[in-house]
Amino acid sequence: MIKGIINYSHHLLETAVEKGDTVIDATCGNGHDAVFLSKLVGENGQVFGFDIQEQAVINTRNRLAMNGYTNATIIQDSHSNFIHHIAVDQLTKLGGAIFNLGYLPGSDKSIITKGESTILAVEGILSHLKQNGLVVLVIYHGHEGGSEEKEQIMKYARLLDQKLFHVLYYGFINQKNDPPFILAIQKRN
Ligand code: SAM
Repeated sequence: MIKGIINYSHHLLETAVEKGDTVIDATCGNGHDAVFLSKLVGENGQVFGFDIQEQAVINTRNRLAMNGYTNATIIQDSHSNFIHHIAVDQLTKLGGAIFNLGYLPGSDKSIITKGESTILAVEGILSHLKQNGLVVLVIYHGHEGGSEEKEQIMKYARLLDQKLFHVLYYGFINQKNDPPFILAIQKRN
């Protein structure tokens, strides 16, 4: 079976991230990815999660606690400031990151990720990523403001040097209503 978008985003991270790595959940939301990442890196790994909304930080911390994970630090700040929250020894083990763009389902639809800060964060994360490390962007773009962010990210990603990065596009091209798709960026050896 062809994997759906969420399943495939997780599958890609499973192939790239190792136990003991540091990983970033750049848009925590309700914490589903944070829980997945905490399991993936194991008790010797570290998850750093970011969200600008207090409710998302609370929801993510609660979901992690309910699932018994203690290897995640959830921070209320923009992902573009990630560098100020992660110690150097943790950054050297950075194996992957995930972004779920758009708004938090069931919450204020005007609070959305924006191209400029998303690209700042991706650029910073790529510069610290280990060889073969992976950044996965799940791009929701059907909401107001979504298509601008999508265009900005596509333009940025197309210009990444192919000698340094593999950039993968994964999406369902016959689905209606602006379905989400994946961009995955892997740092080459
Ligand atoms: N991955 C989440 C989950 O499993 O529930 C869903 C994430 S939701 C699509 C996008 C989230 O990005 C929202 O919670 C929103 O508050 C957050 N967000 C928007 N701008 C942000 C920024 N600059 N830095 C970090 N988070 C941001």
